[in-house]
This record gives sequence, structure tokens and C-alpha cells, in this order.
Amino acid sequence: LKEVVTKDGVKVPKLPSFDYSPPPYTGPSAAEILSKRKEYLSPSMFYFYNKPLNIVDGRMQYLFDEKGRRYLDAFGGIATVCCGHCHPDVVDAIVDQTKRLQHSTILYLNRAIADFAEALANKLPGSLKVVFFTNSGTEANELAMMMARLYTGCHDIISLRNAYHGNAAGTMGATAQSNWKFNVIQSGVHHAINPDPYRGVFGSEGEKYAKDVQDLIQFGTSGNIAGFISEAIQGVGGIVELAPGYLPAAYSTIKKAGGLCIADEVQAGFARTGSHFWGFENHGVVPDIVTMAKGIGNGIPLGAVVTTPEIAEVLTRRSYFNTFGGNPVCTAAGLAVLKVIEKEKLQDNAFVVGSYLKERLTALKDKYDVIGDVRGRGLMLGVELVTDHELKTPAKLETLHVMDQMKEIGVLVGKGGFYGNVFRITPPLCFSKEDADFLVDAMDYTMSKM
Ligand code: PLP
Repeated sequence: LKEVVTKDGVKVPKLPSFDYSPPPYTGPSAAEILSKRKEYLSPSMFYFYNKPLNIVDGRMQYLFDEKGRRYLDAFGGIATVCCGHCHPDVVDAIVDQTKRLQHSTILYLNRAIADFAEALANKLPGSLKVVFFTNSGTEANELAMMMARLYTGCHDIISLRNAYHGNAAGTMGATAQSNWKFNVIQSGVHHAINPDPYRGVFGSEGEKYAKDVQDLIQFGTSGNIAGFISEAIQGVGGIVELAPGYLPAAYSTIKKAGGLCIADEVQAGFARTGSHFWGFENHGVVPDIVTMAKGIGNGIPLGAVVTTPEIAEVLTRRSYFNTFGGNPVCTAAGLAVLKVIEKEKLQDNAFVVGSYLKERLTALKDKYDVIGDVRGRGLMLGVELVTDHELKTPAKLETLHVMDQMKEIGVLVGKGGFYGNVFRITPPLCFSKEDADFLVDAMDYTMSKM
């Protein structure tokens, strides 16, 4: 453990050095912003930490607060900032495009949209070549489910328990955690048993879980279905990796029933899992429709649905359009993101640093009883805290405490899972081994004081 003495005399792990200092901040204080937020923003918009942070600057894997204090951002704006905060190439692409043309709509031709659609299609396998741009992951999944319904002429869709697919009427139906659902009409989605190796009834036996998909079709639907939607690793659900063998078996059952397979790559796509560019590739499957958002624009609001020409054809039956989808500034950012991932070998980095970080976190699990599970791939990792290994009792308060203390040391991690007891580690993909060491040291230090 590398240590430094802080001003109040307490020894804590030391932040890796970083060559950037933000300009002095002269805006309102955290307290002033918080009071405005309480008055004018929906109370549904919760924030992390009892004393929420006022983040005023970001550079690569670091964020800075109003006092210029630096934090290692291990949450990456919820798995979104993939190249790094304010990556110069992405910023330049946005500025250049903004100066030329900010908006024109898809009704006119513009190279930013076409170039990015081509580059994106070239990242996908097989005949997944037709792109429709949206503004968010929710919209992308809404559209994907509608396409499956139009294409098959069927209504029923299967998703997984513990999934998160968005918060509009259709996607809230596909989302399957009570804390993300309202009591509104969300018809036509059936939730299959989650193939969760840690908490699931069949452990890591993927094919056993997949049998439930067959049962759901047989007993919960007319036998004809529109499709199946799944994340490759559940993000909001607490970084849950699907049991090996599950997706190929489930896809095969869905295809036999005439349904389409939708891969929700909103979190696991864009090189995050390290071993592959897309999360579904880790499972050896090829979907019919792929949805994406988050990492696609490094934080710029953008989403997309990519499918085959045959399936895309269904949208030509009527006019289907949205005002901002494919905005040239967003697509220019998207193209820059793809180039940065390639140029800086961010996928390889996610693999190497992610594997190293997972190894170090796994070693920490042997040291502290409170860690029940360490899981995930690349730079999409989860650490689940429990008070009892047998019962897997969620250690909610401990999670909050460790998260808060890590923030004091200078590391920001996310939290999720149904019980809110899983750390979500999804940093920018430029995260270094030194950053990984600092994160683990900060967690180690905090747990040693509990
Ligand atoms: N799908 C997944 C897997 C997600 O994690 C999310 C958001 O967290 C969404 C869809 C919804 O995306 P958005 O918040 O951009 O609407």
C-alpha cells in the first residue's frame, strides 16, 4: 500500500500523478447548486453521497471538484465515457462539426451521419448493416422491440429478470427490477429466470436456465413470439454475467419459435469487455438486432439500432422519424470515438487492465469476508458485498460506507444491483494499471478500517 500523510494526519493511499490542473473555478458552490437542484429539479433525480460532489472539470479518467480536488472516475459517467473525459480528438470533432453545422435533420444529406453509419456497420458481424440513430438507450430498445413486433407480426417479448433496458413504456416493461418500474401498463413482456451464476438457482449451468425460455414460450404465450432481449452482462442489475452456454441455447430456442434476438449493448458494447468489441461476441452468438448508446458518443447523447436490411424494411411501411436522431454533432463525436478506440488500442487496454484489476479484487475477496463475489469482464467489473456468504445477505450499509470513504480518498465507484450492494466499476477505457492499484488500495484501506 502506497501511503501519503494527509493534512489532518491520517494516512491514506496516494492518487497516481496526472499532468493536468483545471483552471480555477469561480462558479456557485456545491451548497448553492444543491439548493437550486432541490427547488427546480425533479426529486426523482437522486445523487450519490450524502454530501454530493460538484464536478466542474474532467480529463481522461479523472474528474475535478470545485476546489480543484482530483478524483479517479471508476464509474465513467455510468459506463459511458469510454475514451476519457474531454478526450481532445472527440472534443475537436464536436467543435469542428458545431462550427460548420449543428443541426439539419435526417431530411437532408450530411456526411457526418453517413460516415458514422458506415463505420458503425463495419464493426458489426454478418448482415447487421442498417443503422437507425436515436438519442438514448431507451429509445434504441423501444425501436428494436417495435421492429421485432412488426417483423414477426407477434407481440410477446421475453427479457430476463433483473434486466434494465430503459424507462419508457415498452422498455420499462422489459426492465425487470421492481425498483425501476412504475405501476403503468407494460404489456407483452415475459421475464425469464435470470442465469445469474452467483444468485441463480442453477449456478453456472447456462443450459438449465435456458430451458425456462422454452417453458415461458409454451406456457406464457400463444407459442409465437416477437423476440428476446438481453444484455451480455447486466449493468444496472449489478454486473451480472450470464451463465456460460445460456445465450446460445436461449437464442436457438427463440429462433425456433420464430422470434428475433435483440442484443442490448448499451453498457457492454464499444470495447468495454476487452476481449471483444461487442458484449454478445463473448457468448458466440449473432443477434438480429443490436442496440447501443452510452459509450457510442463518449457522453454525447446518442443511441443506435443496427439490424439487417430485411428487418429494417419494416419501418418503411409508414414514416418513422425522430428530430434529433443522427444529429451531425453527435455522429461526428461517434466517429471520433471509434477512431480513438482503434488508435489508442482501448479494447486491448480494457482487457489487460481489466484482467489485472479483477485479479487484484479477487485477492481482496480472500482478505475480507464482506466481499461475496467479484465478477465481470474487461472494464465492466462488479464487487458484491454481503454480510453472510451462505445467505448472501446484501451488505447495503457497508456498501454505502465503503463508497463514501473511497470518495474521500479520491476514487469514485458506482453502485447497483437490486439491493444496491454491488460496486460497479466501469471506468473510461484509458484506465491504467496504476489507477487499478489505487482503486484496490483505496478499497483495501477502507475495508481494513471497518
Ligand atoms: N440498456 C441498458 C443495458 C442500460 O444500462 C441502460 C441505461 O442504463 C439503458 C438501456 C437505457 O439507456 P438510457 O439511459 O440512455 O435511456
